Amino acid sequence: MTPTKIEDSKKSPHLLIIDDEKEVGEFAGIVAQSLGFEFTATTNAGDFLGALNDDVTLIMMDLMMPDMDGIELLRLLGQQKCKTTLILMSGYDKRVLETAEELAQTLGLSVAGHLQKPFRLPELQNLLKSYALLNVVAPVARKASKAVTKEELQRAMVREELVLHYQPQLDIATGRVMGVEALVRWQHPERGLVFPDDFIPQAEVLGVIDELGWYVARLALSEIRQFVNSEGEQLKLSLNVSPQSLHDLQLPDTFIALARQYGVAPENVVLEITESGLIKELASALDILTRLRMKRVHLSIDDFGTGYAMMQQLRHVPATELKIDKSFVHDMHQLNSARVVVRKTIEIGHELGMKIVAEGVETREQLEFLRLNGCDIAQGYYFSRPISTEALLEWIKNYVPRNF
Ligand code: C2E
Ligand code: CA
Ligand code: CA
Repeated sequence: MTPTKIEDSKKSPHLLIIDDEKEVGEFAGIVAQSLGFEFTATTNAGDFLGALNDDVTLIMMDLMMPDMDGIELLRLLGQQKCKTTLILMSGYDKRVLETAEELAQTLGLSVAGHLQKPFRLPELQNLLKSYALLNVVAPVARKASKAVTKEELQRAMVREELVLHYQPQLDIATGRVMGVEALVRWQHPERGLVFPDDFIPQAEVLGVIDELGWYVARLALSEIRQFVNSEGEQLKLSLNVSPQSLHDLQLPDTFIALARQYGVAPENVVLEITESGLIKELASALDILTRLRMKRVHLSIDDFGTGYAMMQQLRHVPATELKIDKSFVHDMHQLNSARVVVRKTIEIGHELGMKIVAEGVETREQLEFLRLNGCDIAQGYYFSRPISTEALLEWIKNYVPRNF
């Protein structure tokens, strides 16, 4: 459905509403209008993202919608560095709203308040009035990462505009290249090379992430066999899996069949799932992850250290690898806390029988610290940026294993 937009004067604050119940959106809009706001009411994520531009000064968002996860949407806004103030709504109890508000704040979003549904007219009026009073000044422009539509993403796949760049992973002890991580990019006909942070979160919200994941898997599996190190060993393939795809109970069987089709051994594949994604989907994920592991696919916990999971929560996950988030690697030289996290992660990971990969290694000093603390694998600009298939073949050809 198309968004309802009612224009008023150019200077008035603009409220963008997303609520699957059309009546709630229109009601809130009309109340806002009576207080001098313009408003746009949307009922689905696609319209919402399409309407979210720099003119929007305030967002009202329902957290509970049938075909759309409000928390996911919050995450997306956080990733887009959205500067627009939010009002959260939900039919759940107050605790849920408060937790969501805290989450929004940790994502760097600004929240004006929340409304527990069904809310009454004065509650809404008060929130809008206090917002309008505090914000007579113009809003700060949010980072314009262009909203993409589901159709654009699907067309990009049909036209094969999504390509893979690969970043080598090196064994710290021997200096050998052991694997590559496949990182998707969009070779956009007008916008040039678009990076995944600008379309993966959207693909998740718009419900095309499974399709995209399979596209990437197929492409990577078809290319990996040409990558062999100087010892003649087949390089391992690391693939990023969206936590959302862990709902698909067919995933292990479909994946194994696909790997077989391309002649790739399951033990040469590492599936990376972010720590935060794992915590969120733990219940459904465990089933799928265990079955993947039983089929010998390796599992890696990506961005480790950023998800605030307790090792306790993760100890049932049959992961074979921990990937220390690049923020810790980056901060190691100046923050003792980062050094402690890195050292402890290596220690605990090893105790649990996991391989430890450090990502974002950019300097000799970082590599040295990792080596001294027994980290297994390193990946980062120090060795190579993610590069195209042809460039990687050339890189491997010229790379001589050395002791670090
Ligand atoms: P990630 O999985 O954490 O990937 C590592 C990111 O760090 C990559 O960004 C990589 O280019 C960057 N990086 C590598 N070495 C260094 C370094 O030394 N210093 C710094 N500062 N950065 C480094 P990229 O390629 O922009 O990817 C961003 C994120 O997009 C990935 O983060 C991953 O979460 C997601 N992504 C990429 N490809 C896929 C995919 O095929 N499927 C899914 N679901 N997500 C993907
Ligand atoms: Ca990754
Ligand atoms: Ca990572």
